[in-house]
Amino acid sequence: YEAKKRPLGVAFCNKQQSLHNKRRLAIEQGLRNALAAPLVNDYQLFAVYQPLIYLPSQHLAGFEALMRWHHPEFGLISPAEFIPVAEDTGLIFELSRWMLTSVCQQTVKWHQQGFNFQRISVNLSALELMNINLADDLLSIISNAGAQPQWFKFEITETALMAIPEQSIEILQKLIQADIHVVIDDFGTGYSSLAYLKSLPAKMLKIDQSFINNLINSVEDQAVVKAVISMAHSLGKQVTAEGVELQVQLDFLVEHGCDVAQGYYFSKPISAEDGYKKYNVNADITDI
Ligand code: C2E
Ligand code: MG
Ligand code: MG
Ligand code: MG
Repeated sequence: YEAKKRPLGVAFCNKQQSLHNKRRLAIEQGLRNALAAPLVNDYQLFAVYQPLIYLPSQHLAGFEALMRWHHPEFGLISPAEFIPVAEDTGLIFELSRWMLTSVCQQTVKWHQQGFNFQRISVNLSALELMNINLADDLLSIISNAGAQPQWFKFEITETALMAIPEQSIEILQKLIQADIHVVIDDFGTGYSSLAYLKSLPAKMLKIDQSFINNLINSVEDQAVVKAVISMAHSLGKQVTAEGVELQVQLDFLVEHGCDVAQGYYFSKPISAEDGYKKYNVNADITDI
């Protein structure tokens, strides 16, 4: 039975595998094309902006910039699919530089329009943390674009920090000295110890959306979220909840003192123009 079954299984796997490899290769080639002629192909790669809401006032606390790629044949491809390919092929460095430059240009525009957008969060890949000069490199991209460090936050996942814990702290300290804020993204899904967390200079933890999805039905998730908020506050850190879709989730978060929320309940990621139209009016004066 086993002997008969195995070859079939292998054949099936290989076919799946080869389809998968073909798509990865196409994504890699497509990314190279999109990056090679960024002006001509500007419409392929673009940034969208998802508002973050400061819960005590319900006003704007900034935006998270998220990368989008409109592939000429495949249509819109999720960053969850193309970022890992970019990481495996080393294209992530160029892609990140493109993204930060594009976000910088947007902040300069918004600043000129008098829009108080607070801070824009930009995601960093784990691989970027391997570069000991990361902080200086980011700062020079920002200043070359005519933007200012105090317009930015960088989001780094808990898992990325743990891959290289000491160097990460050094980089975070340099960023913070330059008045850039740092957010620990997808918090709760990694394995950082309390000792490490205590030593992290980041002022914001972003609770992973997996704890928010099922918040209303899961007493375990409720316990985790309450504990993270209270621990973060005791350590002098603020908490953002991501993936907030429902009023009941928001009510729970407000009741337990969560500082900032992000999710479809407020808005999906939107274009820069829509961000300006929708949020130009009520940005909070408080610096988050
Ligand atoms: P992330 O940084 O944790 O971003 C949050 C993701 O959750 C985004 O997915 C966002 O669109 C989605 N989201 C926000 N609110 C809700 C909600 O209420 N419900 C649900 N179901 N989802 C929500 P997106 O844009 O597909 O990005 C996925 C991941 O790709 C990001 O996770 C981040 O890790 C990565 N990524 C996106 N842009 C960049 C980038 O410019 N650079 C790097 N290195 N990574 C990026
Ligand atoms: Mg993020
Ligand atoms: Mg996240
Ligand atoms: Mg996430």
